[in-house]
Amino acid sequence: MARDRRYDILFEPVKIGPVTARNRFYQVPHCNGMGYRDVSAHAAMRGVKAEGGWAVVCTEMTEIHHGADVAPYAELRNWSDQDIPALARIAENIHAHGSLAGIELCHSGHTAPNRWSREIPIAVSARPAAGGYHDPIQARAMDLADIRNLRRAHRAAALRAKRAGYDLVYVYAGHGLGIFQHFLSRATNLRTDEYGGSLQNRARLLREVIEDTKDAVGDTCAVPVRIAMNEFQGAAGLEPAEVEDAIAGMAELPDLWDLSLSDWSKDSQTSRFSAEGFQEPHIAGVKKLTTKPVVGVGRYTSPDTMVRVIKSGIIDMIGAARPSIADPFLPKKIEEGRLDDIRECIGCNICVTGDGTMTPIRCTQNPAMGEEWRRGWHPELIRQRSNDAHVLVVGAGPAGLEAARALGVRGHRVTIADAAREAGGRVAHECRLPGLAAWGRVRDWRLLQIGKMANASLYLESAMTADLVAEVEADHVLVATGADWRRDGSGSHNTRPIAISPQAEVLTPDDLMSGRRPTGRNVVLFDDDHYYMGGVLAELLRREGFRVSLVTPAPLVSIFAQKTLEQELIQARLIELDVGIHANLAVSSIAADQVRLACVFTGREMPLACDATVLVTARDPRDQLFHALAARGVAVSRTGDCFGPGTIAAAVHAGRRFAEEFGDQPRDFTELPFRREVTELA
Ligand code: ADP
Ligand code: SF4
Repeated sequence: MARDRRYDILFEPVKIGPVTARNRFYQVPHCNGMGYRDVSAHAAMRGVKAEGGWAVVCTEMTEIHHGADVAPYAELRNWSDQDIPALARIAENIHAHGSLAGIELCHSGHTAPNRWSREIPIAVSARPAAGGYHDPIQARAMDLADIRNLRRAHRAAALRAKRAGYDLVYVYAGHGLGIFQHFLSRATNLRTDEYGGSLQNRARLLREVIEDTKDAVGDTCAVPVRIAMNEFQGAAGLEPAEVEDAIAGMAELPDLWDLSLSDWSKDSQTSRFSAEGFQEPHIAGVKKLTTKPVVGVGRYTSPDTMVRVIKSGIIDMIGAARPSIADPFLPKKIEEGRLDDIRECIGCNICVTGDGTMTPIRCTQNPAMGEEWRRGWHPELIRQRSNDAHVLVVGAGPAGLEAARALGVRGHRVTIADAAREAGGRVAHECRLPGLAAWGRVRDWRLLQIGKMANASLYLESAMTADLVAEVEADHVLVATGADWRRDGSGSHNTRPIAISPQAEVLTPDDLMSGRRPTGRNVVLFDDDHYYMGGVLAELLRREGFRVSLVTPAPLVSIFAQKTLEQELIQARLIELDVGIHANLAVSSIAADQVRLACVFTGREMPLACDATVLVTARDPRDQLFHALAARGVAVSRTGDCFGPGTIAAAVHAGRRFAEEFGDQPRDFTELPFRREVTELA
């Protein structure tokens, strides 16, 4: 198929200084939890983006010096010549598919606590270092010699990047992580010398480093600047008007302006808190200041929206991190007129958890993300089947749908049966919760793909028993029947069931999602799950007029959501909704008219009156069918939440893994199922 003429504008080449991008699709720098540690995996992941049509593919922030060390986070390192081969491997993979390779050089100032190198951190002004762990480390104020040294280090890193083959070499002043932003912002710059005070002074170092970088590598490399347009502190920090003044003062100096919001949680907002294009109000003023290309992000997945933002003069290139993670082939699909096939990002930020947990990136929508090298998975391709088996998949949740889809692509005949009236499993329910509508895309994309296959058929309202399974006469049965929320209070904190009076009204997330509501108004919600479910159900009940007390053994509500950059927003929303928050406490028993709460530190108990309790603690696999089939000697496997309850991303990955490995010789338990990179001893 040819692309729709409407989208021609997206495929115009763009000149960026001395280099030219083949189209307007620009994968902005993004973290991935692989960094310097898993380089081959990292390189393959970037290569797949290039293969999918992104004209520019960038690395994440890359430390320019051992004194810019953000350990334990695994970002790239460009400290010395020793790092060049790793950096070059990534650039080569990007070039192999005809794209430009960009590298985001970074000194993180006080946000580089130097835990690994043990250098004293440096900062624009003396202050405690910041790096996610509240370390008792302070950063010292840079003197003029330090500033000269920083410039030398940046220049040296730029030259190494050029030797490694990069086409775009960044100056980074974004996300509260780039030291040039710390200089620019009055929130962090308290200096009284020529680098502090007026905007001109605060912008001095940024200007000097752009000039240094142009001078060092600008003959062959483009020099983009990534800059924070808003720090959301009002006049106490950077705001669009002041940043625009700074940009106006050096508008033609860099080769491209890459716009973002600060900190990272503001830049990578989830769909629960923002819509596609949410950055436009903050960035719309920049293009009229410069003739250089302007890149912006905003979870753009719709080609019509992309055309609008370019035609209306907001940006020149469609910047994307998450849309390129969820679908590395997004540009190719638009180019080939296959809009249906675009796997749209759901805005959940599971990808971000890789960085925060220092483990390889993963994605809810794209299970191949991070597995390109390690397991040889590809976001679009999968090898043909090795046998003619007809597979019955029981359960059309994320795991079952992904397994069925991928098995179908391999050429297997696939029958999918689900007891429910609609497909999607947990996603069908969860996408009706406040703010989670976009999560329905996990189901929608897979249903659409399965719907196109002649070799796959889906049967709803088909509750399967072992007898009914036998009637299908499939060669193999995959059970993907999901999991049920527990009703007995056990979970992380309470390792055993708690005392619950038979008169007490106890509900689970499953009850609430299927429409049941507490009979009284006062509800205690015990969240021992710590991800989104507890917070989202508190929000749901509160909006419906219930009085809600959220009890959590953690110090913060939805504490895992720190890793998805949402925790502060969730807690703020619950406070604003007047949800009572009872932290560091666990529900220890439930009576008809009250619960007892136990302090997690002292065990001291106190009562809390309520009419009903919602328990959000843990889930049990719905694996009865699996065991019944196994007992009959049926060829059966299980996957997703029915095997190990976890995230939607984990279920999709598990479904994909079943399909990828189906028909292979079973691996011995002791055999590694993936490749890994082992450091060569020095
Ligand atoms: P996962 O996240 O692992 O994909 P879900 O809970 O989302 O799991 O989906 C499980 C699906 O399995 C649900 O749609 C449910 O209706 C379906 N299901 C559970 N038991 C049966 C059964 N015995 N027969 C058919 N479908 C079932
Ligand atoms: Fe989008 Fe979620 Fe995938 Fe990240 S993990 S790219 S937010 S779908």
